[in-house]
Amino acid sequence: MMKKLVVVTGASSGIGMEFAKRFSSEGHPVLMLARRKEVMEELNLPNCLCRSVDVTDLSAMQAAIQEAEDLYGKTDLLINCAGLMLLGYPAEQDFEEWSRMIDVNVKGVLAGTKAVLADMMARNEGTIINISSIAGRKTFDNHSVYCGTKYAVHAITESMRKEVSGSNVRMVVIAPGVVETPLLSHTSSQEIKNNYNLWKQSIEGGLEPSQIADCAWFAYQMPQNVCVREIVIAKTKQED
Ligand code: NDP
Repeated sequence: MMKKLVVVTGASSGIGMEFAKRFSSEGHPVLMLARRKEVMEELNLPNCLCRSVDVTDLSAMQAAIQEAEDLYGKTDLLINCAGLMLLGYPAEQDFEEWSRMIDVNVKGVLAGTKAVLADMMARNEGTIINISSIAGRKTFDNHSVYCGTKYAVHAITESMRKEVSGSNVRMVVIAPGVVETPLLSHTSSQEIKNNYNLWKQSIEGGLEPSQIADCAWFAYQMPQNVCVREIVIAKTKQED
């Protein structure tokens, strides 16, 4: 019998791509969502649908998830991973960058949640894993709005967890420290990027994306009546 459908946003790169590979290797059909469809299709995973979707577009998210559910059955796990980190000095950063982070990191998580939550509650099963960050638990220089979006992901996950617990739906938050991915590349300030990279070298680089996939797998494979509420993970040498 085919295992249940796993939906991953931000599946075209970094951590999200690792989630797709991992859950696929465990035998799950996977819906991969991100704007760049070709990169996802190149993986050629079995029982996998790749759709170019902007996570801020609720109707596009709903349509892609419906298409995957018609093929593979209801979504049992949604991983909201799409996100961007645009670091900046508060007085200099463009409003547009703030706005984009709020749209993708917060509204994107909400769009995914909207597309599956009511149905999961009606079925009394299902899991949503939201990818926040250590920047969702404490603040860092040049991270103000990024931190704001990740604090929001923590707050939304924690409050929703309470409200859906009676329906047997699990809401999990994973909060990683630095991970080796292209995340930093979209920051516009070269100075901030250089400083970040120096700091990263001082802790001998970030975690491997596969280590975050291990965390998601650990939380998911527990019985449905056990909710691993939060996993915080970082390089041992990351002191902050
Ligand atoms: P990457 O830059 O490698 O991946 C980001 C992913 O998000 C890409 O697949 C990108 O796809 C997708 N994405 C961005 N904007 C949109 C959009 N509007 N619609 C749909 N998809 C979008 O970064 P990571 O893998 O590192 O980041 C994944 C998550 O992990 C993020 O939420 C990040 O905040 C979090 N995180 C990362 C850490 C790190 O150190 N790397 C640490 C802690 C948390 P595309 O461009 O094709 O749309």
